[in-house]
Amino acid sequence: MKIVDATFLQSAQSIADSPDPNVAEVAFLGRSNVGKSSLLNTLTNRKGLAKSSSTPGKTQLINYFNIKFKTSNEEMPYLFARFVDLPGFGYAKVSKGLKKDWNRNLTNYLEQRPCLQIFVHLIDSRHPSLDIDKNVDEFLSSIKRGDQIIIHAFTKTDKLKQNDLAKLKREYPNGIFISNLKKKGMDSLQNAITEHLFG
Ligand code: GDP
Repeated sequence: MKIVDATFLQSAQSIADSPDPNVAEVAFLGRSNVGKSSLLNTLTNRKGLAKSSSTPGKTQLINYFNIKFKTSNEEMPYLFARFVDLPGFGYAKVSKGLKKDWNRNLTNYLEQRPCLQIFVHLIDSRHPSLDIDKNVDEFLSSIKRGDQIIIHAFTKTDKLKQNDLAKLKREYPNGIFISNLKKKGMDSLQNAITEHLFG
């Protein structure tokens, strides 16, 4: 299955002004600067679809994108989902509690969105065990429903030495290892997403 179209749908401040929850959603979240916008643009093959992280203090918006997949099934040639770009968290500091640091509207989205199926937690492969990411993981695990999965996607793997990357892969056997620069890991990530949504 392949993404053949990706378009911006709308921004929202909270669930209240979000689109109807009638399409399966995949939320992308991670620390500011983790490489989230680059990943979304590479994954969808649309340069400039997702904008790079805004500076701290700016309004934190939830951005919705319509994603169209081409299947190999002639009777149902296309399937649809939404990718949801959440604002980066933990800008340049480690916070004790996620909720303290992050907008309440965003945690509400993660906790309460009925059509949310996948959390893609992006982690910088050079710093895989920061407190802020551990907090996010704990939070996601605590709210995760049975129909949802968490995908750990390690970014910027081109910056790691081969040995260190091999070690990281051993530590996180279910992780997905990504380089936007080298265009690596995109198929694995896309397969993990489509497998859960449509498989
Ligand atoms: P965001 O804040 O999470 O949306 O991060 P961006 O996508 O804006 O990327 C932050 C910085 O990391 C930019 O300077 C990117 O060029 C760089 N970057 C993103 N992905 C990669 C990658 O795979 N490898 C390397 N070396 N740099 C990357």
